[in-house]
Amino acid sequence: MRNVGELPERAEAVVIGGGVIGLAVARELARGGAEVVLIERGEAGAESSWAAAGMLAPQVEADRADEFFKLAAASRDAYPAFARELEEESGVDIELDRTGTLYLAFTEADEEECERRLLWQTRAGLRVERLTAVEVRALEPRVSARVRSALRFPLDGQVENRRLTSALAKACGRRGVRVITQTEVSTVKVEDGRAVGVETSRGMMRASSFVVACGAWSSMLRLDTAAAHEISATHGGDAQETRPRIEPVRGQMLCFAPAAAQSPLVRHVVYSPRGYLVPRRDGRLLAGTTTEHAGFDKSVTDTGREAITMQAREIAPAVDALVVSEAWAGLRPRGADDWPVLGALADVPNLFYATGHYRNGILLAPLTGALVAGMILRQGMTSPLLEAFTPERFRRASCAV
Ligand SMILES: Cc1cc2nc3c(=O)[nH]c(=O)nc-3n(C[C@H](O)[C@H](O)[C@H](O)COP(=O)(O)OP(=O)(O)OC[C@H]3O[C@@H](n4cnc5c(N)ncnc54)[C@H](O)[C@@H]3O)c2cc1C
Repeated sequence: MRNVGELPERAEAVVIGGGVIGLAVARELARGGAEVVLIERGEAGAESSWAAAGMLAPQVEADRADEFFKLAAASRDAYPAFARELEEESGVDIELDRTGTLYLAFTEADEEECERRLLWQTRAGLRVERLTAVEVRALEPRVSARVRSALRFPLDGQVENRRLTSALAKACGRRGVRVITQTEVSTVKVEDGRAVGVETSRGMMRASSFVVACGAWSSMLRLDTAAAHEISATHGGDAQETRPRIEPVRGQMLCFAPAAAQSPLVRHVVYSPRGYLVPRRDGRLLAGTTTEHAGFDKSVTDTGREAITMQAREIAPAVDALVVSEAWAGLRPRGADDWPVLGALADVPNLFYATGHYRNGILLAPLTGALVAGMILRQGMTSPLLEAFTPERFRRASCAV
């Protein structure tokens, strides 16, 4: 039988959810000296963090230098040191690749979008280059001859996200985090305005701080009835309503097998406004994706496959010669305003959220881990980078209506 770990009676901190975010927070808490237990319903790193494409691309789709962009760019810039430390701790190379990303324009509208992005990013002092069609094809000869121009973001790149979760899990183990798998948390118990414990499928566990990192399932975690009552009394509303709402957004992916005796189709991560191709070091080529509201259904559909194949073919028609070796889908965790939810509930100051990373959880993992753990270790003192992501913003918005 698989060893899922003994559930201890108590710890300093409990992290609920073992995706890239829960693992990154748990590792940082342990680095800060805390005694940490991470509780995962299935196996660590087997949900959205497994399904992702691993792109680290804050500049590609950003339209302004808002708080989200600043967080995302800072997290990308933290990756080289993060990857180095993780390799030292775990022995796993997460295949950080900083070749840069290309964003291709095929239509007049695509070119206008590129122009706007080039303009604001250049004014903001960010590194971005415009390429002519000839320059694009000199860099990537097998990209479609229909390409009109492109932007190149030299600092963006990718990691192998499955290696990343495996590295984080090993690093957690090395740093003394107790990772308890095959154990579901159903309820966070709150007494007198503080979280005191979690009900799990294997019993109750107590701690001083709790982190909700359940990805797309974060809203399914219950606050116990007594707590719900207290919170609704303070705020004159329904307690379950005041918690951040996270919904699942399905993304499907196709994976093309390495073509025998051929060089990779592309060397860079290549986007169009409709899809992307991600070349892996082992020769696989990932193609994505879809954005679907399908509840918790992780099926791969014919419509999804067709849409992704069309998007991939637009970028590089030569994909037609490749064989699809694998297809999968994952559930991105999305908050109501698309931004992550990072920080404690005002009513329950030792109950922290680290969720809602939507399309960018791999990119945001290093900074989320460091900042959320920092907040817990410094007993609620928050970084200015986190202010815009507090769970309280949803309550403020609902009060303002
Ligand atoms: C197709 C696709 C492509 C993507 N591409 C990129 C990309 O290129 N770059 C990027 O940055 N991001 C990308 N993302 C987004 C990224 O995958 C997510 O933002 C990120 O993985 C979220 O991490 P997480 O740890 O919050 O969630 P998850 O990885 O889903 O982990 C949540 C964990 O919590 C566990 N859990 C849930 N409920 C409970 C419970 N009650 N008790 C115990 N455990 C529980 C789950 O089993 C799961 O292991 C992509 C996503 C998809 C689907």
